[in-house]
Amino acid sequence: MAKVKYINYKKPTININKGEKLMVSSQQPFNFVIKSDDSPEKEIYKKALLRSGEEISKALEIKNTINIDVYIEDFCKTLRSTACFSLVGMTYSPIYIALKDSSSPNEREYAYPQALVKQLNLDKEVDFSDHDLIIYLNTHMAKEDFSEIITTHEIIHGLGFMGNGVVIGKSIGIPNIKEELFSPYVYYDVENVAENKINYNMLGFLPFTVFEKNIVAIEDRDNYLYRTGFDEFFDNSVNITSYSLDFNSSSEEQFSVLSKIYSEIYKDNKSLNKYRKITKYYFTHNSIGFKCSDGEVVKLQTFNDVYLSSSSGNHMAVPFKCEALNTCYSNDINEYDNDYLMYYNFPIQFKSSEMLKKFKNEYGFIGPKLLKILTTMGWTEKGKESDSKIYYVSDNEFPDVYDYLFELKSNNTIFKNDIKETFLMSSSNLNHTYLKTNILLIFIISSLLFII
Ligand SMILES: [Zn+2]
Repeated sequence: MAKVKYINYKKPTININKGEKLMVSSQQPFNFVIKSDDSPEKEIYKKALLRSGEEISKALEIKNTINIDVYIEDFCKTLRSTACFSLVGMTYSPIYIALKDSSSPNEREYAYPQALVKQLNLDKEVDFSDHDLIIYLNTHMAKEDFSEIITTHEIIHGLGFMGNGVVIGKSIGIPNIKEELFSPYVYYDVENVAENKINYNMLGFLPFTVFEKNIVAIEDRDNYLYRTGFDEFFDNSVNITSYSLDFNSSSEEQFSVLSKIYSEIYKDNKSLNKYRKITKYYFTHNSIGFKCSDGEVVKLQTFNDVYLSSSSGNHMAVPFKCEALNTCYSNDINEYDNDYLMYYNFPIQFKSSEMLKKFKNEYGFIGPKLLKILTTMGWTEKGKESDSKIYYVSDNEFPDVYDYLFELKSNNTIFKNDIKETFLMSSSNLNHTYLKTNILLIFIISSLLFII
């Protein structure tokens, strides 16, 4: 089964069977399973989640229920960083299924979120996982008339607004790679070979997502960045085998293994110039965009000189002037526009009700550009006829190893070491700015940061 599952976050076993079900309506477009203990914050988020479910299902046709596991946690207990107050929520990479546009063996496959795949016409049956995505919400950010923007933002990431690729190098905490280059993400199979010893068998690279399938450079809007190239990653010609690590190995040790593999891939690589060019886009302000089916290119947020692995390219570009990361916010509601939902940060003082009233979108939080992005990826706008296109389920096997990996890590205090984890490094430098100006950083975490 072509299941690209690389969810990496899982609560320790103790919580696994717990869950409070929240249904949105009799049609049940969404089914939220909240896996956290009762608290006042949980009550606020429960209302927010139901509201998000209602808003999204007003905009999109959801024929088959989307199952979302929700963890409502004190990020300061889990992340152990001062950034814990300013992180509002996270969406781990959703469960993906690899699909192709035709049955041709030469056709490239892309990772589609399971939530979307359930709504599409497939050439064969798929054995779906019980949950489609997991979101993780910070108790410190629970606030009436505000949290629904956070929960909707996170769910939209899980419905497909997310990439798989990552710039490999010092930006993500791998210091001994000479040159930072963009790459699809690796996947592993793991085996527990001895007490405290795991073998990581690297099997290959994950396909780019349906979101990435539609990304173009602003300077060259006719060419999709990820529909060509990267062949050596996908045709199994890369010589990657396996390595052993102990349960308690530091992120530095883990990254050093990866850096060797990447150095080998990039050595004498003919496509290096293409990869350099793409990498440069990720370090250049708003240089890439999502090309919608009508040809409009919606700019995505990238910054000059800084790459945030979980954020760059995974959010819409803010509509106001913003070149360096620390100037990319505004406290002025008039500087925002109808597509406020998917910006990478959001001022805490704007109430959900105020935003709805000011921007009067046809579909509430979902602005016109976001709707176009979603329908380009395959979602159907509410009330419109759904596409009759058939998608071909790829036969590639991707092992479900990420739950297991996270379980190992969560039991071995992944967050306790003092080495700055990459995603925290990205925001902690700016943390004071965020706190002082009351700006929230809406953040997603990409899988790379935890699983290796
Ligand atoms: Zn986000």
